[in-house]
Formats: sequence, C-alpha cells, structure tokens
Amino acid sequence: MSHHHSNGKYAWQKTPRVDPPKRAARERTSDFREIYSLLDEETIRQQASRCVQCAYPFCRTGCPLGNRIPEWLACAAAGDFLEAAALSRSTSNMPEICSRVCPQERLCEGACALNARSEPVPIGAIEKFINEYALRRGVVEVTNLPPNGLRVAIVGSGPAGIACADELAARGYEVMVFEALSRLGGLLVNGIPAFKLEKSVVERRLELLRQRGVVFRTGVTVGQELSLSNLLTEFNAVFLGIGAQKPKPLDISGAQLKGVHDALPFLIEKNVGISPGGSPIAVKDKRVAVLGGGDTAMDCLRTAIRCGASEAVCLYRRDLANMPGSRREYQSALEEGAVFQFLTNPVSLGSDAVGRVTHVGCVRMELGEPDAKGRRKPFPVPGSDFLVETDIVLVAYGFDPVPFPPGNDLAAIQRTDWGGLIVDANQMTSRPGVFSGGDMVRGPSLVVDAVRDGRRAALGIHQYLSQRQATPHQRDEPKKCVPV
Ligand code: SF4
Ligand code: SF4
Repeated sequence: MSHHHSNGKYAWQKTPRVDPPKRAARERTSDFREIYSLLDEETIRQQASRCVQCAYPFCRTGCPLGNRIPEWLACAAAGDFLEAAALSRSTSNMPEICSRVCPQERLCEGACALNARSEPVPIGAIEKFINEYALRRGVVEVTNLPPNGLRVAIVGSGPAGIACADELAARGYEVMVFEALSRLGGLLVNGIPAFKLEKSVVERRLELLRQRGVVFRTGVTVGQELSLSNLLTEFNAVFLGIGAQKPKPLDISGAQLKGVHDALPFLIEKNVGISPGGSPIAVKDKRVAVLGGGDTAMDCLRTAIRCGASEAVCLYRRDLANMPGSRREYQSALEEGAVFQFLTNPVSLGSDAVGRVTHVGCVRMELGEPDAKGRRKPFPVPGSDFLVETDIVLVAYGFDPVPFPPGNDLAAIQRTDWGGLIVDANQMTSRPGVFSGGDMVRGPSLVVDAVRDGRRAALGIHQYLSQRQATPHQRDEPKKCVPV
C-alpha cells in the first residue's frame, strides 16, 4: 500500500525504535500536564512497520487484555488508523488510558520478539496514537444491543467498574454506577497524577459511557446510605469495584508525628484539589522523604517536585533492580530531580520539641537470596544506622482493601486473610449475583488488570443472568422495553 514500507519483514533492521517526544524536565515540572506528546503519522507508520507479524505474537500474550497488537500494527503501518483503533477497541474499554499508564516494558513491549535482536515496537505509543486519532475525530461508536430489561449496579467508578459498565451497557443492560466521591473516575483521577493521565482524558471516556446510557450517581457510599441488599432488590446483579485504599501501616516509632502523611491523601489533594486528610499538606520549599519503591512512591516524588519541594528523596530498602515501580517512571522521576537512596530501610522517625518530624532514622540493607517470588529479601547491615533530614514524610508502602464493619452485608462476603474479595472464574463472589474485580480482589495492581477483571465480570454477569433466565425486575414505572 505504501512506498515507504516496502522493506517488509526487515524494516526493524533499518528503522530504529523511536519513542514519543517527552517535554524537557525543567518545563514539565512547572505544571501537571502530561509529559509525552504524540508521534507524527509518518513516524507511527514507520514504527508500526517494524513489527515482523509473528505467527505466535508474544506481545499479545504479554498484554493482560490479549490485545490484537499485530493486527492493529499492520493497519497502522498501512496508514489505516481508524481500522487500527477499531481493532484496538475490540478488546479494551479504555485503550487511550491503558496506553498511557501501562508499564509496557513489563507487558506487551517486554514480550515483543524484537527484544532479542533490536528494540521492541513502541506498542504503547502506537496504541495511544491510533485511539487519539479516532477519539479526536469522534468516530468511536457507542451503539448498544437492544435493551434486555436487566439492570446491573456498578459500585465504584475506577477502571474495573468503568470497563464492566461499558461492556454491560453495550450488551443491552441498564447500568447504574455508584461513586462515593463527588468526582468520577476512582483511581484514574485520584491516584494517578495528571502528568501521567490528564483528567480530561478520563472525562472524555466517561462521556462515552454516558452516551451509551450508563447513569452515574456520585456521593453515594454503598455499605452506608445504600446497602448491598438494597441494591440486589433493585438490580439483577452487582459489580463491586471499590479498589484497595487502606494504606499499609507505617510500623515504626514516630509514625504519628506531624508532617507524616499517607501517600494517597497527598496525591488526591495535589491532583484534584481536595484535602481528604483535613488540612492541606504544604511541601513548597520543604524537604520531602518518600518511603517505598512502587509506582505510588514515584508519583509522590514527582508530585512533590511539581509543588515546589526543595528536595524529594526516595528511601527504598531494596535496590533498583528489585524495585517494583516502573522503569520509565523511575527515569522520569530522576530527570525531574528526585533522589533515590536504595538499600535504605527507614526504621524510626525523629522530631523537634513541638512534635514535627525532622529526620528519618535509616539502616543500610544488603540483599539475600531470591525468595519464592524471585525477589531478593533485604536484611540490615549491623551498625549501619544513619539519619536523613526531612520536613515531610510521605508513606507509600502500598494498600489493602478497606474492611467493612461487622454487620454490614458487604462484610459477609468471603475474603482472603489480607482482605481481598474471593471470586470464582467468572469474578463472582461468595454472594450469588455479586461480582468483583480490580484492586478489591487483587490488592494494588495495574489499571490494565482492573480492565481485564471488569470485562471478565461483565461476561460472568451476562452468563449468570442468561443461565438463570432471570426475568426483569418489576418496577412501578412503565417498562422501557418488553422482555422477550
Ligand atoms: Fe500494552 Fe497495556 Fe496496551 Fe496491553 S493495554 S497493549 S499491555 S499498553
Ligand atoms: Fe510484532 Fe513484536 Fe508482537 Fe512480534 S511480538 S507481532 S514483532 S509487536
């Protein structure tokens, strides 16, 4: 089709990998806008043509959604971006979001066959390009199957809930999403900083769901003003996508000092301008120490820098190779001025006379043999104690699912010992008709995994309700459609 791309299977030998342009660190730390821009059309075509169209595409296996990567890359190489985007949407409910926040080096791109001989196809950048191309032209279809008279409630408007809602609405279900906060999007707007995913991108996606007929109700906490049993009398099935927001405790002396904060309230405050922890956390011209080495820690460092912190130091007990955070995010944090102290375990916090934190007592660590998961367990070096002076401590040690008070019917659902909901292969919990997915089941995990669970749950709900041949709920208002 194109004279440019006639070098067929060997394009990768002549064309090196190109990554999307990244704004200069100095410029991007002065605002919260996204740091990457789109590649141009010609570069996208050239990069897509580097794909050798493997018979057994490992990229696809590496993608939690099993995206049809070689197929849409072939379309993109031919310049048929709309067809590429349509293929991309066929397996993902928010490809423009996953392509922005997936750690591709561990997923699709990490699995790309070209890694052995060259550099992988920039799959994420191409996925973002083709979907932005379609979305900006307004050609993303939101047609649903005819209404089937069945109603499903979705609890939580994060990625799992949105994916489930989108799938069900498309299949003809009447879908209502309940969100406890006043703002929709869950983790996508609260947890993920705008420099990785702008709020307008999430809002555009939510608008597509509204066009599908999904109804959103904000400020409603299921388990409080509305019980699960209430929902089950009104709806044929319920999907719980509440996430995991209970911070893992900081188990060292001084954890209660002034100036010590959990990561999530800090991120929410700086990102969406509300202060869930009460008074705002001032970091301007302050030294900020972030405890932890995951993506939340990276987000805290980069957010603190954007808020004018004089210093943003990451204290992490393992080394770089064993750090769970994405390499790309680590690189960006470094460029923006974050400092990393690896093999550093915070063991105490010290304070001044008025109880404000002044330093983190640390001990140097060494790595031992790999454990069952292949990660090397750190152990302290005797006599290696040292202090890191600081004004603010942000704790990013991860999250667990929030427990429900006994007596609440949500608390009766079976959970693992760490609090994750137990689900079957169809994502159904121990309570019939109640499904779940995302962080509420897995503990903190990737957006793309939540999307996968939401899709799987939608299919599970569909099968469950079809098998039961459920009749639509009798309601007082006239029915919109006559059930078959
Ligand atoms: Fe890669 Fe994530 Fe897109 Fe899958 S969803 S193709 S893993 S960027
Ligand atoms: Fe193309 Fe890489 Fe996937 Fe192979 S593994 S089909 S080269 S993107």
